[in-house]
Amino acid sequence: MYLKPMEYYTDLYDLFTIKACLEVIELWKDLYKKKDTDEKLKEIPADEVEGDFNYCFGWEIRIEKGERYRKKAKTIKEWIDRDTVKQDKLDATSPPSNIICPYCKVEMLAGDFKDLEDFDEGKPLRVLFFFECHKCKKRKGFFDNGKEYTSKPNLCPNCGKKVKVTFIKKGEVITTITKCPSCKYKNVEIDDWEKSRLEHEANKKKDKELLEKYREEFCLSDKDGQAYLELIEAMEVANAVREEEMQKYDNPVYQRSLQLKKTTIVDLEKLLINILEKAKYTKLSFDKPDIGQYVIVPFTVQDLDSLRKDRISVSELEKLINRALEDTNWRLLSNSIMYRLGYLEGRLKGYENEEDMLKLAGKKENPKLEQKIDDLKRQKYISNNLVQLARLLGEQEGIENMRKRRLAKEPDGFFLEASEGPLGCGICGGQHPGNEIWWNLDGLRCSDCWRNIKEGVIPSNLKHMYDNDGQWISNWQIHSDYGVHPGTRDKLIRQGFLKAKKLKDKKGAIYCTLFLVSENKDFLDKYPKQKSEIEVNIVDSKGSKVML
Ligand SMILES: [Zn+2]
Ligand SMILES: [Zn+2]
Ligand SMILES: [Zn+2]
Repeated sequence: MYLKPMEYYTDLYDLFTIKACLEVIELWKDLYKKKDTDEKLKEIPADEVEGDFNYCFGWEIRIEKGERYRKKAKTIKEWIDRDTVKQDKLDATSPPSNIICPYCKVEMLAGDFKDLEDFDEGKPLRVLFFFECHKCKKRKGFFDNGKEYTSKPNLCPNCGKKVKVTFIKKGEVITTITKCPSCKYKNVEIDDWEKSRLEHEANKKKDKELLEKYREEFCLSDKDGQAYLELIEAMEVANAVREEEMQKYDNPVYQRSLQLKKTTIVDLEKLLINILEKAKYTKLSFDKPDIGQYVIVPFTVQDLDSLRKDRISVSELEKLINRALEDTNWRLLSNSIMYRLGYLEGRLKGYENEEDMLKLAGKKENPKLEQKIDDLKRQKYISNNLVQLARLLGEQEGIENMRKRRLAKEPDGFFLEASEGPLGCGICGGQHPGNEIWWNLDGLRCSDCWRNIKEGVIPSNLKHMYDNDGQWISNWQIHSDYGVHPGTRDKLIRQGFLKAKKLKDKKGAIYCTLFLVSENKDFLDKYPKQKSEIEVNIVDSKGSKVML
């Protein structure tokens, strides 16, 4: 029988899965043993190595299980299809007709036995039948296509001549003796059918035990399997999204769209009045805006120059406004300016969303970026946490890369865009809009801190206040980390024992005080850093300590 019950195929597949997973485990056990003697790993703290081991092993076994699940249905179907073809061939094939005994010249008769020749991959399947001549009792084998079966002669592996084969049957044991009459070659093979049967039984039992013991652990249910497939798919989408998000910032158009200032109506008014007054256009006034997808604001202005009339006045004003609005998110509606008796009226249009800003920055409509992930898949995972996180990471990386490129021209750094932020200063912690935050590879500094750096009050390479260990100490850390009360602290500063860097704002007021470790060795000897009072001790679901 070729075609077997479904259960047979499922068991077989699951058994392979279990064996593959056990192999992975063995491999990791080996690696785990070797880790203690590995030179490179000696440098790393033991619990860190342990954690990484667990993490990597966990992933590998998860992927092994998941990928076995992914291929399960398809593989089983292939097995069944293959066996169905064989079964059908065997069932449907009848013996060839007109097989004549060469000695008696009568038709030979086919017996009930038939055998499928299936060991030659790629060759068409053949069924073998045995025929008997009812007169001389000679037997011959024929395939269903009428070709006679001929057994290959046994040849000596030494000299290539024909050998003599003898079978001796003793109970269940068959001994096959092959002797070559030409040379001295002799081979004895013993087939113990009983022993083979027992071995076969033992293997079957072992497989059954493996299935019972490990199936639940290594062979994923449909629910878990689907969850795995979705996770992998979400990761795929996340990677693509991260990449795309990052690449956005490589595009000069995108870069410019970020630099376009999102100007409010008040700022717009100031900007225009300033420019228009100089060109003798006066009394700019805005009318009630029409707020829809865009903000449309009608305006009027008066021309002080009575010699400048009609078209000249209009085109002059158009030029002025267009130039003034170039770096903003506002545009003059084309052909909207009308001139009547020294009055000019027109309309301005304000843009807000990313796509519109991109268009303002010069994005072309047609060329669509080639996307690695099709829209359906993208849509499915759009709100997945992994994908959202990837988007954020990609954005950060893209922005960081864009800033690094800018460093080539502005090596000391630069203020960010007003549209970015609010961002926290790495030294004083103050929150500021992007245009008050100085950026370079040392970190973010507010304009006051940056001025203090330029004036040499503090070094430029100060680390972030949450990561300043061993370099500097902020005012609040003196209490929280060194246990010195603010009153005592101020006294120590007055006595000169604690040396402070006092950062002053533009008006000369002290807005931040900090202490350099290098200047305060005596203080630190007397007031060493205290151990944190809050012991961070979080345990995961399996009871192992979680690293933070
Ligand atoms: Zn015959
Ligand atoms: Zn020989
Ligand atoms: Zn600051």
